[in-house]
Amino acid sequence: FLQPKPENAVTVAVSSRVLFRTEREQKVFEQDGVEEYLRFQIAHENEPFTPGPAFPFVKALEAVNCRLRELYPQSEELFDIVLVTYNHAHVGIRLINTINHHNLFIERFCMTGGSSPIGYLKAWQTNLYLSADADKVREALSEGIAAATMFTSEKVTEVSESQLRVAFDGDAVLFSDESERIFKAHGLDKFFEHERDNEDTLLDHGPLKGFLEALGKLQKKFYAKGQRLDCPIRTYLVTARSAASSGIRALKTLRAWGLEIDEALFLAGAPKGPMLEKIRPHIYFDDQMFHVEGAAEMGTVAAHVPYGIAQKHNAKQNISVRK
Ligand SMILES: [Mg+2]
Repeated sequence: FLQPKPENAVTVAVSSRVLFRTEREQKVFEQDGVEEYLRFQIAHENEPFTPGPAFPFVKALEAVNCRLRELYPQSEELFDIVLVTYNHAHVGIRLINTINHHNLFIERFCMTGGSSPIGYLKAWQTNLYLSADADKVREALSEGIAAATMFTSEKVTEVSESQLRVAFDGDAVLFSDESERIFKAHGLDKFFEHERDNEDTLLDHGPLKGFLEALGKLQKKFYAKGQRLDCPIRTYLVTARSAASSGIRALKTLRAWGLEIDEALFLAGAPKGPMLEKIRPHIYFDDQMFHVEGAAEMGTVAAHVPYGIAQKHNAKQNISVRK
């Protein structure tokens, strides 16, 4: 079927290590070296990998594409998924077998043979890059590409197969880390004061704003066909800010950007895990490992955005506070 051009598509690049579970192979690579690893992969070529943390998300993207194709058979405004792997082409056969086994529609492969994929990500005008490799994710972020690190976890809550749900943190994810810096440097009182004084000043954009925008572009295609209530994409803001005080600046900023978020949850410092457990997103983005770990413990697939001031603080030192 139709492969959209990069400028029309919403391109999501996923690494093989987050789309599938490859821990066993990773272990062979680390313990026995690359030659043994390649031998192992070829010997297991007909054995498909099992689904990894990004798998339900990619499945949901494909479900949205089905709905878009029904409504707009000629349109190239679709999700386009690119599989990125540092692997040698020999491993490609096992990956293709796996993709066919799971009925995934992934035609675009990027096998870099160990070198950095960033140049390819740019060429594909990537809207989101998901990888298990935090260094590659940082590199992508520094090049202005929305990116996050994903982790494999044993406990995963079941998610919707017909509605894609994407949840975002606010500060240092959709927004810049400007306010987070005030909080980290001067504490909560100064943070409140700063947000009050700057209520009508827009927050600067953060690394994931562009992806929310891309989701919004596709959502509008459903709205245009009268499917607002039945839209297969739903977005959530899940922030530690509190509605009455610091929340207003976040909402004003989103509105000024022309971005609609379907649900905004102001937790005023309450833990995010239980709320995310109710939302059941396919993916949740946060810049603080503390929140990523809290969400993952309750079965939510959470991805880490290694951006902003929070990266200077150890995850264990972070304390959840009302803000
Ligand atoms: Mg944050």
